[in-house]
Amino acid sequence: MGEKKKKIIKTIKVDLDKCNGCRACELVCSAFHAAPKYSSNNPARSRIRVIHDPLKDVYVPVYAGEYAKAECMGRDKYVIDGKEYDECSFCRASCPSRDIFKEPDSGLPLKCDMCEDDPAQKEPLCVQWCLNDALIYEEREEEVEEEVKQEDVEIGLESMIDKYGLEKIMDTVARISLSKKG
Ligand code: SF4
Ligand code: SF4
Repeated sequence: MGEKKKKIIKTIKVDLDKCNGCRACELVCSAFHAAPKYSSNNPARSRIRVIHDPLKDVYVPVYAGEYAKAECMGRDKYVIDGKEYDECSFCRASCPSRDIFKEPDSGLPLKCDMCEDDPAQKEPLCVQWCLNDALIYEEREEEVEEEVKQEDVEIGLESMIDKYGLEKIMDTVARISLSKKG
């Protein structure tokens, strides 16, 4: 058993009744995470995606969650107002069976990081930009067991190894480090 420590749990509550599908959240998220910051915007790079059906006035913002290196054994399908959505439409994981929540150029998994930055943001950017108040930011303190947090770079590397194999990644890293030294 690990040691207990206090942790701030951050949540974003999504009020579907208020979302009108404007996609400002996607824009600002992709711009905030561009390098350099705000140098570009592309919803395909956003860590929140709005699944939508304008004819039925259905808009469902979904946040990118943990990377899953294998597809799950089962699939889910949702029916809303009589419309059946594609399998796994509302899943938060970046996984091999879908293109959503993957950096379009590299294929690396994307995950919402609550806009953690230095200096800290007052609230996550998507919340600040949602003029309809469909996204509501909340914080609470909880006692949790200390966990070893996996670094982003480790998650990214793991997904590249899953995709291309360890040998190819090692060769590529060796080649790049040689060219950097030269
Ligand atoms: S910014 Fe708000 S209203 Fe617009 S799509 Fe995102 S969650 Fe919906
Ligand atoms: S909290 Fe930040 S990282 Fe997460 S979806 Fe919103 S803008 Fe993107």
